[in-house]
Amino acid sequence: MTIARQYQPESTFLSEPTMPTTTRREQQHHVLCCFFCLGINLSFLITAMDLYAQEKVHHAEAHEVNSIQRQLGLDPHKNLTERIGDAPESVLSIFREAGLSPSSHLLTDDERQKFAEATAILPPLHQSILKQRLRHISFLNNMPNTALTSMVTSSESYPLFDIAIRASILHQSASEWMTEKESSCFDRRVTTFSLRTEIGNITALQYVFLHEATHIVDAICQVTPTLPPDPSIPPNNSATPFTAGVWEDARTPINRYLDQGLLSIRFRQGGKLVDASKMKEIYEALGRTPFVSLYGSSARTEDLAEYFTVYHLTQKLKQPFRISVLDGDREVLLHDPMNSEIVRARFTLMSPFYESMPSPPTADK
Ligand SMILES: [Zn+2]
Repeated sequence: MTIARQYQPESTFLSEPTMPTTTRREQQHHVLCCFFCLGINLSFLITAMDLYAQEKVHHAEAHEVNSIQRQLGLDPHKNLTERIGDAPESVLSIFREAGLSPSSHLLTDDERQKFAEATAILPPLHQSILKQRLRHISFLNNMPNTALTSMVTSSESYPLFDIAIRASILHQSASEWMTEKESSCFDRRVTTFSLRTEIGNITALQYVFLHEATHIVDAICQVTPTLPPDPSIPPNNSATPFTAGVWEDARTPINRYLDQGLLSIRFRQGGKLVDASKMKEIYEALGRTPFVSLYGSSARTEDLAEYFTVYHLTQKLKQPFRISVLDGDREVLLHDPMNSEIVRARFTLMSPFYESMPSPPTADK
């Protein structure tokens, strides 16, 4: 039987109003928005071979894994596109508790093709993990945030995941969506300042799905430290290679990267809209950190999801990722993180994401 697990989120989700966290004991999902995972806490960046070792352990329990997947409704033989459907009641109830009422969006053939394109750009490791762990994908109308990744777990601690995505992003480019998201940090009612983002020919769905999928890979591989399932337990702040020298804890960067402007943005708990006249100042501060976007500066799990997404798009798919601060039509600052030494210093930490993982175990039928 599925059980509830209560986690304290590391950050709010992909923009817009803060999403609620789960609180009811009977809830089967909890919001990963941000991120927590189960399992052994490894204090090092796990490599694909380490994953293989884990999977070998699971191999001995393949029948058990099979049983959990069957019980929770995941068919690993279905491709990801076949896992799209109406949002499960457990996902809808998370929104209802916040007084919201999103409705399921039925995808057109063209929109299903867009989703297939989003899955096609995932690295093999992401694909392997999602095949075994991503149970369900839904698209919602009237959803306040961009996406919601939640964990559905069982007493055997083999977590599966559901992803809900705002349907309106199906018709946006990544550049349009990112401009909208980062701009949402600023009060632009009276100003000449604005943002412009350039992310090549990537769709918003490709960007967002890669970001969400990276949360799931993080949950399984623990690229960022695990938080305890019970908020009353002190968080484990032992650093991993990705967070060492960058994050003090789940939401606090080390002193060197602490900036009052960045700490005040609305992607952080208690954050507020920043006057748009401070746009240049805020992105200058961001440029002194290893974070690729304002959202990535909000928590270490979002740092990883944003960093890996931008790394994959720029270094593997050869797309640009640049954010310009404009005063009228004039560019007054270019945020070009992939050309920043401090950002590039983490490139080597991305290599484990590209090591191939042997086929996951399957139980004999
Ligand atoms: Zn995220």
